[in-house]
Amino acid sequence: MALLVQKYGGTSVADADRIRAVAEHISFTKRQGHDVIAVVSAMGKDTDGLIALAREVSSVHPGREMDMLLTAGERKSMSLLCMALADMDVSAKSFTGSQVGIITDNDHGRAKILEVKGDRVRDAISEGTVCVVAGFQGQSLEREITTLGRGGSDTTAVALAAALDADVCEIYTDVTGVFSADPRICPRARKLGRISFDEMLEMAATGGRVLALRSVEFARNHNVDLHVRSSFTWEPGTWVTAEEGSMEEPIISGVTHDLTEAKVTITNVPDRPGVAASIVRALADAGVNIDMIVQSTSVDAKTDMSFTLPKTEVTASQSVLDDLAREFEGGTISQESDIAKVSLVGAGMKSSPGIAATMFETLANEGINIQMISTSTIRISVIVDAAECDVAVQRLHAAFGLDAVDVYSAPLPERK
Ligand code: ASP
Ligand code: MG
Repeated sequence: MALLVQKYGGTSVADADRIRAVAEHISFTKRQGHDVIAVVSAMGKDTDGLIALAREVSSVHPGREMDMLLTAGERKSMSLLCMALADMDVSAKSFTGSQVGIITDNDHGRAKILEVKGDRVRDAISEGTVCVVAGFQGQSLEREITTLGRGGSDTTAVALAAALDADVCEIYTDVTGVFSADPRICPRARKLGRISFDEMLEMAATGGRVLALRSVEFARNHNVDLHVRSSFTWEPGTWVTAEEGSMEEPIISGVTHDLTEAKVTITNVPDRPGVAASIVRALADAGVNIDMIVQSTSVDAKTDMSFTLPKTEVTASQSVLDDLAREFEGGTISQESDIAKVSLVGAGMKSSPGIAATMFETLANEGINIQMISTSTIRISVIVDAAECDVAVQRLHAAFGLDAVDVYSAPLPERK
């Protein structure tokens, strides 16, 4: 007998049929003798719908009121799921984030969990009741209702699993696991049986959208084993655990891609101490998150600097960049949004030389130009033209021996 946390994402509880299917699975898990804490997301695109409604009503969106609004989405799914369970004679109770004591800071819209009390969950479990907890929400120390940021239900599930010392945290979603590449652009991608937290973090950070980054960080820090699997097929999925791969495992676990970033280049930057700091500080103060910073060798004490940033932050960066360009005499700013970041991720990279060489040769053979490069101990990322993204992913996947014999054939969710 085990204690299982089961998180069901929006597509898993999108309509009445889906909610009943989830209830049946929980009932089945209970019949096998396990205790279940289910964490639910809002139904389908409910959260997007609430945000759209807020925009229609007003141009002013105070964080407190947005959180009050958005937490309504999870309230719908949790209560409906309990009703479906009651219909199957399974005793179940729904709880909001504040009822189970998910205590957060007061940063509305992206609150961080400070503590999970979990008393009510413990009591209900000891009575044999299934606990259905609203994902993505908590209560701040000032007793305000907060949300954890988009995709935050994963974090709720991992935090509850850590606090209650659950045996596993199952993340149910609309794909059958974590893949070696996105099957929508790389049909020979294969499902990974297992992946380490570190690899999963790199994949989540470079475009692998299966798990929210913060939930993986939380799982690694508290050593909570994750099992990512499908609520449509219920087949075994991918385990995300602390273990490093064994010797026979592939050096590269996956190829990810990300089309959400833009590239900015500033020319004629004076090459003296403090200039890079002032550029990056000005952007940070404007709340812009930059990545992949490259500075070229200087000529006549002038240099060029390029970096990437989320496309959604280009507007916020505009006035900061204009000010900087004015400051650097003759400086120009150019922006390019048709770029893709393509990354190779694999823990085996640490001990195998030549990975970058093979990667760059593979791209060169396709005539793909590399615009920027960055690395970590277990990742190599390049920026290429967006139009070349799919080919780059497919060729790298093949070059590193990741291609499955069979073409992925299960139905795939829409590409975002
Ligand atoms: N419903 C929230 C969202 O759509 C939280 C979640 O699904 O994890 O972002
Ligand atoms: Mg969601």
